[in-house]
Order: sequence, then structure tokens, then C-alpha cells
Amino acid sequence: MNDAVNSVWERIDKDRDFVIDLTRELVKIPSVNPKFQVDPEINREPEVQDVIERQLQSDGFATERWDVFPDRPNVIGEWEGSDEKSLILCGHIDVVPVGDSTAWDRDPFCADIDKGKIWGRGAVDMKGGVACCVAAANAIRAAGIELDGRLAIHSVVDEEAGGFGAMDIAKNRRLAKRAIIAEPTWGDVVAAEGGLTWVRVTIFGKQAHAGWRFNSIFPQPHTADRIEPGVNAIELATRFLNALREFEASRCRDHWHPLMPTGIATINPGVIHGGAGMGENGLPAVMSNAAMISDVVTIDLDYKFMPDERFEDVKAEFEDFVHHFAATDSWMRENPPKILWDLFDLNFPPMNTPVDHPLTLSLANRAGQVQATPPVIKGFEAVTDAAHYAGAGVDALIYGPSGDGFHANNECVDIESLVESTKVIAAAVIDNCGTK
Ligand SMILES: [Zn+2]
Repeated sequence: MNDAVNSVWERIDKDRDFVIDLTRELVKIPSVNPKFQVDPEINREPEVQDVIERQLQSDGFATERWDVFPDRPNVIGEWEGSDEKSLILCGHIDVVPVGDSTAWDRDPFCADIDKGKIWGRGAVDMKGGVACCVAAANAIRAAGIELDGRLAIHSVVDEEAGGFGAMDIAKNRRLAKRAIIAEPTWGDVVAAEGGLTWVRVTIFGKQAHAGWRFNSIFPQPHTADRIEPGVNAIELATRFLNALREFEASRCRDHWHPLMPTGIATINPGVIHGGAGMGENGLPAVMSNAAMISDVVTIDLDYKFMPDERFEDVKAEFEDFVHHFAATDSWMRENPPKILWDLFDLNFPPMNTPVDHPLTLSLANRAGQVQATPPVIKGFEAVTDAAHYAGAGVDALIYGPSGDGFHANNECVDIESLVESTKVIAAAVIDNCGTK
């Protein structure tokens, strides 16, 4: 096994330019996720996939390509082999917008080499990582090594806007026992990631003219000439948000995970709409008339849960909380809030791969051999495509190069880390898949 790894590492050293050139070629093709910015000049995911598909085919992969959304293709390449030792290498080729291009020191798609880095949008997040996966396979083939287990490379779209590319694969394609997602980890091994879903809570009040609010402030008997006051949903929502903050804090106290920061189980109220009348789109119909006592408020929550929690349990716990909150008020008891899970279909299952899993150990061990800084095995605060593989029962890990400026200006990837990640990934492939 180590002979095979050594010969592949030699290959990678001899042909360092392979991963560098490929990264640059991918960065030069702008592939901004069209969900953020529609512009044919920069929404060029198919061209990026052309490059990857061609390379995979020339390395003997059987490829498959299909549109996840119109003109937004995923590409899969597979070398056949045993299912028992099967492995997926995955990366996304969509990138976030450039933002203010005047804040960049260079053309955001120049892919120039300077100071030991490749510069440009997507360099580190994550065309560099995709190139490492392709380069690792290329080196294995060039070294004449035949794997026992099946190796697949998944080049996916739309990670930056919900992971619908990887989700499509997780639902509809043949998977593998294990997966490495080559997002930038600065050479560390990420074994855990919390789950994430978006939830909408709709709180209902009773509409009335604001002129009768005095009846809510100083309750007075309801008489023929005195209109019954409304129930202000915005005020109920503020009470709900206060209770939610307590609930969130108690969840953060009660749940912990050795690889995650303390208090990671947060519930962020990110968007709130208040107004009158329920619109067809699930939001208040009138949101511009303060003279109405509001009867509809929607609160959209970014709901994180722990790597070792089950979504079913998370759901049940929150529904219980909302139910008991509503029970504290006679109006809400009769008119309970509504809960909508997986708003906009956003749902990232948790990932919780053991620290002593063979693939975790292989990555950590190989990274320790290759990198100047030994790797740390850790958890990740946000979510990645690894979630969709983990949710489908694949043992997933995240490992990849280092850089800077992701989702910011002056994005870059460290060239040395590209070469190192290619070596580590190639060795992990050989460790996992075995050789013939
Ligand atoms: Zn990414």
C-alpha cells in the first residue's frame, strides 16, 4: 500500500503543474451561482463542467452529466470497483458573486499566480479542491495503479445556494460507502457538522382598525358602540421571540459535541414579516399599512442542530415548545401558530463521522505525513454538501486546501496546499479503495 502511495506522490511532485493549471483553468471561467446574480457572462457552470468532464474521460472515467436546473449540470465520473471499498470525491463548481469588484486588487477571474497563491473568485471555495480531486485520480492512473474499490468523482452545482446539486445525487444516483468533500479546511480533517433547516413560524392575530387599540391598552367592556379590539400579531411575535431566545439558550446548554463549539445549536430569527391578511404566498398580504392591527406575522428561522441529533427529534421538540408557548395565552390556544419545516426546501442533515473511522484516520495520518502542520480533527460551524451524503448514509469527511478571502474580495488558494491536498486525497483513495 505504501509503495503505491509513494509512487503516486512521486507522480504528483513531478507533475505539480497539473493541479495548478487545472485550478487556474477552472477559476478563469466565471461560474457565479445564478440564484445570486443572473448574467450569462458569468453564469458559466456548463463550461467549467466541460473541462472536468473532458479530464475525467481522458483518465478513463465513465462519465454522466445531467441538468439539475436548466443549463446547470452535475458531472459524475466513475471507475468501476467493489462497492465495499467504494469512495466518492466531491466538490462544487458554483461560486458566490464577486461583490464590489473595485475592492479587488486584481481581475476577480484572472487566476494569476503571485506570492505562492492563485488569485480569483472560487480559487479556494472551491475550484482548488475540485482540481485536487481530479489531480489525485489523474496521478493514480498515471502511476499505473488499479484500485479495488469503486472511485467516483462528483462535480456538482449549486452548493452555495442550498446544495441542490449534491442533494439531487444523494436522492437519485448510486452513492458509495464513503465520501471526501474537498472544501477548504486548511489541511484539517472535518468529521462533524451540525444539521440545518429553515423553519417558518406564522403567528395569527385578529385584524382591527388601529383606532381601537386603546381597548387593548385599557381593556374596557365590549358595548354596542365600542368595537371589540383586535389581537396584535406583532406583539404576540415579540413574546414568541423572547420565549424562543430562552428555548434556544436551553438547547445550547443541553447539547454539546466534542468537535463543535459550545452553544452551536442556535436558532436565528433571520427574516420577519408583519402585516394584515394572509397572502397567497404565505406572507402577510398588506405590509404597508400601520393603521391596521396586524393579524399575520411570519418569522423565518435558521435552525441549527447537533451532529448527533435526529431531525425527527429536533422537530418534535420544537413543535412541543411552540405548543406550550401557545398554551400560555387564551387567543393563541384557539389560534395556534403554524410551523412550516424545510422552508424553500432547505434541509442539511447532520454529519457525525467517528474520529476513529478508518477514513478519518487515513486522512489524518496522510495529512500528518505530507503537511508541515499536523492536522486537527474537528467539527465545522456552517454546512456543506457533506450533509447530503451523510444524510443518505455515506460516511463523509471534509478535507481540502488553504487560502483566503472566501465569500470576500481577493480570494486566493495557497499553491503548496493544493499539491499537499492532492497527495493526501490520493493516499486516502488508495488506503480506502485498496489496490489490485
Ligand atoms: Zn464551498
